[in-house]
Amino acid sequence: MTITDHPLVARARLLAAEVLEPEAARVDQEGVPASHIEAVKRSGLLGLAAPAEYGGSAAPAAVAREVAEILAGACGSTWFVQSQHHTPVQVLTRGEPVARERLLGPLARGELLSGVAYAQLRAHPKAPVRARRDGTGLRFDGTVPWYTGWGLNDVLLLAGLTDDDEVVFAFVDAREQPGLRPSAPLRLAALTAASTVSLELDGLRVPEEAVALRIPYADWAPTDRAKTLNTNPAVFGIAAAALSLVDDRTAAPLRSRLADVRTRAYALADHPAPPERTEERLAVRAEAYAALDAATTAAVVAGGGRSMSLTSRAQRLAREGMFLLIQGQTAETRQAHLRALAG
Ligand SMILES: Cc1cc2nc3c(=O)[nH]c(=O)nc-3n(C[C@H](O)[C@H](O)[C@H](O)COP(=O)(O)OP(=O)(O)OC[C@H]3O[C@@H](n4cnc5c(N)ncnc54)[C@H](O)[C@@H]3O)c2cc1C
Repeated sequence: MTITDHPLVARARLLAAEVLEPEAARVDQEGVPASHIEAVKRSGLLGLAAPAEYGGSAAPAAVAREVAEILAGACGSTWFVQSQHHTPVQVLTRGEPVARERLLGPLARGELLSGVAYAQLRAHPKAPVRARRDGTGLRFDGTVPWYTGWGLNDVLLLAGLTDDDEVVFAFVDAREQPGLRPSAPLRLAALTAASTVSLELDGLRVPEEAVALRIPYADWAPTDRAKTLNTNPAVFGIAAAALSLVDDRTAAPLRSRLADVRTRAYALADHPAPPERTEERLAVRAEAYAALDAATTAAVVAGGGRSMSLTSRAQRLAREGMFLLIQGQTAETRQAHLRALAG
């Protein structure tokens, strides 16, 4: 069976064709509806990477990438909301048994959708969110600058840094509660529909059994860094969708450019020692962004003045592509991308 024949890939195609694509322009302007979240939960795609013994599919990375491309190309906002869920699944899989036994099954089976608030850890040694021991549990204080899926997801995996330089991930109900106050949904240049807020934490109490993972920052950071060095498959999904709006003569060379960089990007992602070949990873990532930019620009140009309409698919894909430029950005990837742009 090839990757494109995998049942999860078929399900992603069906979800994209029947639910996501037809509604994407409206969703972009009005927000991801609850009915989309229900469809994603029913699709089985939330358990794509989860262990089989918890009801997941334990699919190979290549299948996860193919699914991400399909969903991102169909509706960037819905893709992004569901993409958050896969980090909590990974954290639970290797984390504390009590939280795993309570939550991994419901997350793997798509009964619960999780968001995640952890990018603030990358500001280390600063700690925008502190986790401190408090009686038998923990308290969290600080500000989460970005949290996607507010009002759409059920639980939130929150990360904080302890005074001992340990990272703590803990699950919290994704709703306003004592110690947790969301901002109004942020109005953004792209993906406003994904319902992103900032969160003010002021003594948020979390019981010990909600802790999913504790790990020294020094051990967590290399794994996180490895993730940020690789190219996000959504780049290829959005670029391919953009090229579907362009005539074949223009699209053909752009398609082969994308196929070439995609092959190299995925070979690097599959490389057994992720932090190795860092320069090459950063260079390929920047090349992929350049190919994405060319694809979405071609779609806008091909559409003429109508591309500026908020219902035009070309401008939406261009804005979603712009979002990918900064998603998961670190100081290292920002510098490398800027260097590549400067030639
Ligand atoms: C619409 C949207 C939705 C998002 N949703 C989520 C979400 O649901 N969950 C989530 O976890 N994240 C989310 N993010 C965060 C996203 O991944 C970050 O925007 C991205 O990692 C860039 O980080 P930044 O803009 O917060 O950091 P910036 O402040 O621009 O910093 C970029 C990088 O510089 C470094 N840095 C920053 N400050 C310092 C400092 N004081 N000292 C040393 N180094 C520093 C860090 O490496 C940091 O990653 C979202 C972002 C956006 C725009």
